[in-house]
Amino acid sequence: MIDVNGYLILSYSNCHREAWLVAHRIFPENDNTNLALGRLLHETSYENKGEKDVAIDNIKLDLVQEKNGKTIVSEIKKSKYSLDGARDQLLFYLRRLKEMGVEAEGLLLVPKERKRIPVILTAEEEKRIREMSDEIQKLVDGPIPPIERSQNRCKNCAYYTYCWV
Ligand code: SF4
Repeated sequence: MIDVNGYLILSYSNCHREAWLVAHRIFPENDNTNLALGRLLHETSYENKGEKDVAIDNIKLDLVQEKNGKTIVSEIKKSKYSLDGARDQLLFYLRRLKEMGVEAEGLLLVPKERKRIPVILTAEEEKRIREMSDEIQKLVDGPIPPIERSQNRCKNCAYYTYCWV
């Protein structure tokens, strides 16, 4: 059994091969430009807007704010690339927080594009994220999945060199 975390959920939403690589701790090169840009943006955005990098159990929240009696947890992304995966990642965090007795709302932030997308955990989304966690457990027990050829997705992926070169 692996400990499914938000990064695995994000990876699985992007590409099953990526999730398998992450789960098997085969990480992309650290000098990947996309990763470096993402880290820089994360460090310099939303200063003094709340508490950044809050780690609880196996979740790591980019930004936590209290507004009008509500807890808002945000995921900061550098571009609209893989926003569906980022949304699933945030839903996973909201579900984990709920299990810990914290009712929170989510916000996806793309500062470069001035995007703020609310994310709410519904019963259907909760079920879908639970099923996704089960699917990831099965995936990592199997062989590495084939390359999912998508020029658009692959060219933005940190594993591009690993898969394509
Ligand atoms: S490069 Fe493409 S096939 Fe390889 S892990 Fe990334 S998205 Fe998947």
